[in-house]
This record gives sequence, C-alpha cells and structure tokens, in this order.
Amino acid sequence: MSETTFRRRLALIDRDGTIIVDKVYLSDPDGIEFAPGAIEGLQLLRDAGFALVLITNQSGIARGYFDVATLERIHDRLKFMLAAEGLQLKAIYFCPHGPDDGCDCRKPAPGMIRKAMRDFAVRPHEAVIIGDSDADMGAAGVPGVRVAAPRASATIGAAHDFLEAARRARALLAPNGRTRRD
Ligand SMILES: [Mg+2]
Ligand SMILES: [Zn+2]
Repeated sequence: MSETTFRRRLALIDRDGTIIVDKVYLSDPDGIEFAPGAIEGLQLLRDAGFALVLITNQSGIARGYFDVATLERIHDRLKFMLAAEGLQLKAIYFCPHGPDDGCDCRKPAPGMIRKAMRDFAVRPHEAVIIGDSDADMGAAGVPGVRVAAPRASATIGAAHDFLEAARRARALLAPNGRTRRD
C-alpha cells in the first residue's frame, strides 16, 4: 500500500475468548493458548494496515486473584509469543476493576476504547472492535465484530473463529466502503 493511500486503522481486540482461550482469571503466563485462527487473523489485520491493540477487562486484579505485576508477566509472554509470529501489539489497555467499582474503563464502558482512539488519533469509523462478548460490542460508536469463543456454544451471527472475524473487520474498513476479496 502506497503512502498516499494509507489510512490509519485501529483494531481494538479483546483478549480472553478472542485471541487466547479463556482460562477464566488466567494468572499463569504458561497458560496462554492461542484461540483458533488467532495468529492468522492477526497477521491478516497487520497486513491490511491495522495497528493491533489489546483491550481487556481484568477484574481478577480487583478480586485479588492476581496482581498487576503478574498480569504484566502474562502480557510479556503473550508479546513474546506473538513476536515469534511476526506480530506486535502497539498497546495493551486493561481494566483492573471489578463490576461494582463504577469505573469508566471496564467494558462495556467506553473508557479504554476512547483512550485508545485518542492515543492513536483515530475516529470511530477508523477503528473496529473484535470480541467474544456483548460487553465488547459497540462502545464509543466503533463498529464491532463478534467472534464465537472457542469451546463455547456458538453465538448466532458470530464469526466462527478469529480469522473469519479478522476478515469481517477488514471488510468493514475497506477503502470506499467496498468489501475486499481475499
Ligand atoms: Mg472476552
Ligand atoms: Zn476499570
């Protein structure tokens, strides 16, 4: 893609149940297991010019199951594993709060999405959210693509894996609104 046709695009990607298998309050870096199609889908988004950003609720911190240092070890290993596949997360945003804390960052609240758009200077139509839960969808006017979590019962209309979700996300933000072909 030439400089003149470059469009800034941001993929705001959920972590658990979306790119890694949801282990429910994962507290062990060795427990990271990529979801089906995760690597291929992230590579597709990268190649389509998306900046890859992780947006994740981590209430296990508020619940006392693990601390921020542990979360950072998990994310360091995740980044290491992704780097082996030629992938780089441009940023990771996490909410450490619990459901009753009244914060503005725990999805479905839009705080992390808004902050990412500010940090990367993109507008809602230049971003897409990919996630496995209702809480991921539609924050701050950003279109969402739903992916069925591995090992969960299928959600009607959801992409069956992350690669399909990535293709849908790419199509949503194709130049001139046209759907691209693979
Ligand atoms: Mg999730
Ligand atoms: Zn929060």
